[in-house]
Amino acid sequence: MELPSKLLENAVNEMSQLPGIGKRTALRLLLHLLKQPVEQTELLSSALTAMRNDIQFCKACHTIADDEICGICSNPSRDKSIICVVEDVRDVMAIENTGMFKGVYHVLGGKISPIEGIGPSQLKITSLVDKVKGGNISEIIFALSSTMEGDTTNFYIYRQIKDCELKTSTIARGIAVGDELEYADEVTLGRSLLNRIPFETSIKQ
Ligand SMILES: [Zn+2]
Repeated sequence: MELPSKLLENAVNEMSQLPGIGKRTALRLLLHLLKQPVEQTELLSSALTAMRNDIQFCKACHTIADDEICGICSNPSRDKSIICVVEDVRDVMAIENTGMFKGVYHVLGGKISPIEGIGPSQLKITSLVDKVKGGNISEIIFALSSTMEGDTTNFYIYRQIKDCELKTSTIARGIAVGDELEYADEVTLGRSLLNRIPFETSIKQ
């Protein structure tokens, strides 16, 4: 794409690094910004910089937070003995939207995927196993998407905690195989949580 300005070209190149944003979309968004008052661009860039610099990851559950401990983990009415294991912050948001879960989360930061070169050590698995072995946990609910990577990750974690005294369950398969959690509607996802099944049953199916 031949652009009349190096400055515009640089901005297009940077913006099109984002997933789902091609060069044409980047150009459209930037031309829109050029038509707006300069303050709008300044507000956008300072919001992005502040987010990138100041955002934290909860020390307890690894979700995105503004403080060391997130609002869910620091809420005294949440049951800290029930941990729902999810892939990323979008899954926390999806499950929170159902209003059906009163425990806490553990955000792994992805799934084991040999194809994408993601191994267990790149995920927050050790801190989960340590939490379980530290005691005071009554149940672990696996709520990863029903993909091969999700199943592999569940099983990898399960093998390390299966001798501990606690319940392990997985969300019911109202979530279709291959579905990403964040796209499930609230009612389906809420039901899958309520109708969760023991993990042992799910791996025998
Ligand atoms: Zn937290």
